Amino acid sequence: MSYVYHIVKFKDGSAYLMFDVCSWNCLYCVRNLNMWCSSLSAHVQAGLKTKGIKYIGIEETVKILKENSVSLVFLGGGEPTQDPMLSDLMRSLKKENIESWLITNGELLSDELFELAKGITFSIKALDRAKHIRLTGMDNQKVVENFKRYGKPEKVVAETVYFPALIDCNEVVEIAKFIESVDSRIRFRIDPAVQLKDLSAFRECVKNVKMVHEKTYYIKFREKTEAPELLYPLV
Ligand code: SF4
Repeated sequence: MSYVYHIVKFKDGSAYLMFDVCSWNCLYCVRNLNMWCSSLSAHVQAGLKTKGIKYIGIEETVKILKENSVSLVFLGGGEPTQDPMLSDLMRSLKKENIESWLITNGELLSDELFELAKGITFSIKALDRAKHIRLTGMDNQKVVENFKRYGKPEKVVAETVYFPALIDCNEVVEIAKFIESVDSRIRFRIDPAVQLKDLSAFRECVKNVKMVHEKTYYIKFREKTEAPELLYPLV
């Protein structure tokens, strides 16, 4: 049994698998607010909240994805690399020609996971060690080492969360400089913390960071309207 507990399918045919595992304690973690995909309708989310969490085996996960003609899955949640079954799951997906895109804090990234993944969103929460510990409760030494090792532009997208209470634009610029020092071709996505209501300073920050690392961008999540399809659990 893996820690997968929730699957949704997007309009482009890709799916998102959520893992109910993470030993970090990021102050802004969306899991503190909502364990379910926040793009689902309020009605579906209300139904899910009454259901509770039930883990799903690898075989059933693959079966659901095949039945729904999914060819690319994003693995996130949660921290998928903390699931001991992750590599088995990714191998089973590969056998069925379903590609995996890992969304990770990078601490437990390995050669095996790197090889199995089609792509990796590698989140660098903070470069400053003290800030990283305050934000996540964890040291970032392994994260930094792993980014130097696995930061390959053909497979890795770097990411961070703008959270001005602790990760302000100066810290994001430092992260961008680090990415630039590893490889200037690596794309760098900045997300606003979910708690942030006014995005004007965030957008200004993205412009400033772009001057340090040209491959910087952000996604206009909050303007998305089409809800994904719920694949598991059904309500
Ligand atoms: S590493 Fe990710 S899942 Fe874990 S607490 Fe931080 S934001 Fe949440």
